[in-house]
Amino acid sequence: MNIIKQYVTQNDCYKAGQKITPRGCMVHSTATPGVMAQAFALRWNQPGVEKAVHFFVDDADIIEILPCEAGNAWRAWHCGRGSRGSGNDTLVSLEMCESRDLKDKAYFDRVYENAAELAAHLARTFGFGAEDIICHSEGYTAGIASNHADVMHWFPLHGVSMDDFRRDVKNRLEDKTDEDGDSDEGSGAGGGAGEQTGPLYRVQAGAFRSRENADRLCSQLKDAGYSDAYVKTAGGYYKVQLGAFRSLENADRLSQQLEKKGYETYIVNGR
Ligand SMILES: [Zn+2]
Repeated sequence: MNIIKQYVTQNDCYKAGQKITPRGCMVHSTATPGVMAQAFALRWNQPGVEKAVHFFVDDADIIEILPCEAGNAWRAWHCGRGSRGSGNDTLVSLEMCESRDLKDKAYFDRVYENAAELAAHLARTFGFGAEDIICHSEGYTAGIASNHADVMHWFPLHGVSMDDFRRDVKNRLEDKTDEDGDSDEGSGAGGGAGEQTGPLYRVQAGAFRSRENADRLCSQLKDAGYSDAYVKTAGGYYKVQLGAFRSLENADRLSQQLEKKGYETYIVNGR
């Protein structure tokens, strides 16, 4: 997953510069069909907008417009207020961009993947669970948000509920370790002749339900010079991984290098 940081420094909410301790995440969708993440990031980078989220997500990009990192999460103005307070005080927020035709299934699948991947990343970063993720309309029902319908005007068109979304995030959170060690043993770069039987460490840069998204990340890595990036399938996921290292140190070096370039990675022990 590649997060583009593009802060909206001209936005009033950015200028307010307040911080929160996140305890969950709210999922929105823009209600502005056909306008993608980059365009929103530009539109909202000016005074007088009076709203801001942490992330815009579309089928290709994840753009962070307000700082949202471990130990440095800013307060967004994303859900207004309800009878019991405001989710802005405790929730980080992502805004899914809507396709011009809300029934566009190919687009929906991709933006859904990206949103689930991002939500899992946020849950890991701030230590909350998949059950702490709600959409705007659920926030309204819970009394912590304004009366908006998102994302329930859209998800059901594709047979998906917020419970499905939470389950998909939960699956990602539980996918930290790679349990399928056997499947591609020996195919990696450091496989050797098999005389060594210690663990093999791999660096994982993403796990996707969709082949297309995995391929996209994989070719992005190859373009960036990581020619040994590959996609493997396991447990219903397409996993983008690099290398097969005998030494944890070497895997860690590659992992850190990728993190510096903005990739979210972890090390997989593939036996
Ligand atoms: Zn909303």
